[in-house]
Amino acid sequence: MTAFDQIADRILGGGAATEADALAVLQADDAELMSVVAAAGRLRREHFGNTVKVNYLVNLKSGLCPENCNYCSQALGSQAPILKYSWLSKEETLKQAGAGLSGGATRVCMVSSGRGPSDRDIDKVVEMTEALKDSYEGVEVCACLGLLKDGQAERLKAAGVDAYNHNINTAESNHDNIVQTHSYDDRVDTIGKAKSAGLSPCSGLIAGLGETDEQLVEALFALKGLGSDSIPVNFLMPFDGTPYENTWELSPTRCVKILAMARFVCPDKEIRIAGGREMHLRSLQATALQVANSIFLGDYLTSEGQDALSDLEMLRDNGFVILGMDASAFDELIAAHEAGVVHRAHVGSPCSAAGGCGEGCGCGSAEASSDEPSDQGSEHNPSIRRRGAGTEVAANA
Ligand code: SF4
Repeated sequence: MTAFDQIADRILGGGAATEADALAVLQADDAELMSVVAAAGRLRREHFGNTVKVNYLVNLKSGLCPENCNYCSQALGSQAPILKYSWLSKEETLKQAGAGLSGGATRVCMVSSGRGPSDRDIDKVVEMTEALKDSYEGVEVCACLGLLKDGQAERLKAAGVDAYNHNINTAESNHDNIVQTHSYDDRVDTIGKAKSAGLSPCSGLIAGLGETDEQLVEALFALKGLGSDSIPVNFLMPFDGTPYENTWELSPTRCVKILAMARFVCPDKEIRIAGGREMHLRSLQATALQVANSIFLGDYLTSEGQDALSDLEMLRDNGFVILGMDASAFDELIAAHEAGVVHRAHVGSPCSAAGGCGEGCGCGSAEASSDEPSDQGSEHNPSIRRRGAGTEVAANA
């Protein structure tokens, strides 16, 4: 039995990982990677079986942010040539969310850039949420709108929002190195407001920001203490035109160890592989899913992910199923994707509507073809999103 199995045994027996355990996982030799994965995978299977939660991002408002988060392509001073637009309409939001839901997602994450929402912004998100809930039975809605003021979380909750995302991003001891226009305490305050209002707290981090191993451990234990129900683990995408351009601190094996550490520290929480999955995990994406249990389908806020069909095939090929979908429905979904038909309304009955059906899947339009060449970026170049929300091009879902 490996030392990592002994830690897993202790956790499965009701104990908890210590900071020393977490550090040992993070600093494991690459030759021990599969031992780490096997042990963390036992915790993953205990709590989540072979399910993967599939989430879909809708960027409601892109760029134009007055905050100076150094890692962010939407920040004040960023020269990254991202899409910039103000609020999507309710109709456009429904269309974009529908594409993700039809593509296999069960949670829609509605995100807006900016320090925090005004009360009028909350009005918009309330309307969008009510429309989403009316249109898509069982949809989970997560909002990510920045720092909240008193009363705003309660309004979101009353409208049917299920979760609120606000990442701590890094350890408190590293926070002021990455952003100066707001504080770590500001971030923690918003997570507390969301939780107090009954919203499920979603808070995670970004690895690769110059933090030490000890600071990654610090961040994970902080998230545990905050009671984050879902923990998105992002791997820095160093956009050209941002202060972190050309910053490459991560390897695929390190990314897997970071996710495994998160699993050991928070064994029963949703560990989501978030931005940077393709770029940093590369051929270890599927290995990472042996310890993590959640991904984003398709594209990210300002960059393009691999095509949605590849995401789904990766899950199926590795023996996973989508949370909330039985195996045969999953097979049908993949078959529909392969046929170039990407929304659930047509599963088992390919869309034949001339010019597309207007359901947001883009069927009938040239852009919807799975043969469409797409800039997937490269190891050294995050690909800027040029499809989906804020464009006329069909979403990658
Ligand atoms: S992370 Fe959010 S608050 Fe920070 S610059 Fe980006 S959009 Fe603005």
